[in-house]
Amino acid sequence: MTDGLPERRLPTLPVGNESRIGEAGSVAFEPFFRSAAPRLEDGEADTFVPHVVAWNLTKRCNLACAHCYISAGSWHAAKDELSTSECRRILDEILELNASPMLILSGGEPLLREDLEELASHASSAGATVVVGTNGTRLTSERIDSLMEAGVQGVAVSVDSLRASYHDRFRHGGGALHDTLAAVDRLGAHGLDFVVQTSLTRGNRHELRELVGWAEGKGALSFNLYFLVATGRGEGMTGLSPEENEEVLAELAELEAEYRGRMMVRSKCQPQIMRHVVDGHGDSPLLNYRTRCPCGIHYCRITPEGKVTPCPYTPIVAGDLREQAFSDIWRDSTLFHTIRHGELGGKCGRCEYREVCGGCRARAHSESGDILGPDESCAYEPSGDRPLVRTEREITYGSIHEETLPWTDEARDRIARVPSFVRGVVTARVEGFARDRGYRQVDVEVMAEVRRSLPVDFSQKLPFFLRKGGDA
Ligand code: SF4
Ligand code: SF4
Ligand code: SF4
Repeated sequence: MTDGLPERRLPTLPVGNESRIGEAGSVAFEPFFRSAAPRLEDGEADTFVPHVVAWNLTKRCNLACAHCYISAGSWHAAKDELSTSECRRILDEILELNASPMLILSGGEPLLREDLEELASHASSAGATVVVGTNGTRLTSERIDSLMEAGVQGVAVSVDSLRASYHDRFRHGGGALHDTLAAVDRLGAHGLDFVVQTSLTRGNRHELRELVGWAEGKGALSFNLYFLVATGRGEGMTGLSPEENEEVLAELAELEAEYRGRMMVRSKCQPQIMRHVVDGHGDSPLLNYRTRCPCGIHYCRITPEGKVTPCPYTPIVAGDLREQAFSDIWRDSTLFHTIRHGELGGKCGRCEYREVCGGCRARAHSESGDILGPDESCAYEPSGDRPLVRTEREITYGSIHEETLPWTDEARDRIARVPSFVRGVVTARVEGFARDRGYRQVDVEVMAEVRRSLPVDFSQKLPFFLRKGGDA
């Protein structure tokens, strides 16, 4: 047995209060940014903070995409969905655990919920960063205005191709691309940050570079490329081969470097990109992610009926918010305990990249029924005898940075409004900047200077989560 290889694995599921939800569930997208997972050591319960919560508010949708992991469609009724008052109560429970989480309100199509703005406003006024994931076809100017008034700080829009023949067929909606592209233009005109999400298949793989360039031209904050997880309606679909994934990830890592400072380029649900970044792009901001994938560690999903799962693509249920408090599920679920403390199996368990990558847990579960199993979509075959790879950065997303300089109350108030998962990195960055210039304390003037002087890791455009913290 080589260094750190598994000696013992926790039992696989179902165990404790977990069960499968009848229909595979997910949201239309992952979080804008992957939050960070800690190194998994016992006695670190406080590090398991729900920094990002993805919330499928409905299964109703005006489209019926081939790959939809929540099997959304127009035939679903609202009757089983959490009511507005139930949602408000759950929001308060999340905010009790983390005063400044990132909430991703999605569906189905979340714009079909008439209380979307009410819920967004409830969360954002209490300190959460709220973003909305939508197919974009119903994003009118009036709706963008009302979302902005409700404190929504970003929107994720799905564009799978710039060819209507592909996008509309994939999304099962005639005219969908036309309507979504119009929404992208409206978002730009309103100045509401947006990210473009593309689901990768062989049918659009050749469009990757064109789509990235188009998204940047439209002013997107990020381009997120989603790799298939065969769950929900996508259960029978086959993704790219491991070798094809490898080629796309290498291209994506190159695109990330090429567009750095102008637009973030990210892979979603294929954490193997970290292997390419570690080996070939040592200056990448992706190394600020102290991953494995954060599902169940810093990230979870709520289904329309109030079930909590590790991530949108993982159908195993950690608990039921109609019967349990969010904090009880988050802290005590056997499923989350397994993900946090269990050791990975198969090739992921013996891989030297298991801490920076760790494979997609949802895909492992979908393929083998084992949430800790190997991610066979990865082409890499670890020998098992190479030293563990770790990122070198001291402060990573999700970590806490203790203040080392005095902060004025106003400056502290501003930093407190930065989403929790990036706050440690931002705090360290501001203090480093102040120290380099001989400042003895951090005040709002220093924060303003940071904003003017420093390129932000992700983008020089200063994304919403940094704007929210004032001048940081
Ligand atoms: S737009 Fe497509 S992927 Fe998104 S919820 Fe609707 S059917 Fe599912
Ligand atoms: S388990 Fe897979 S799909 Fe879920 S958040 Fe992690 S990488 Fe993404
Ligand atoms: S074998 Fe597993 S941990 Fe290693 S690079 Fe592949 S997916 Fe990541």
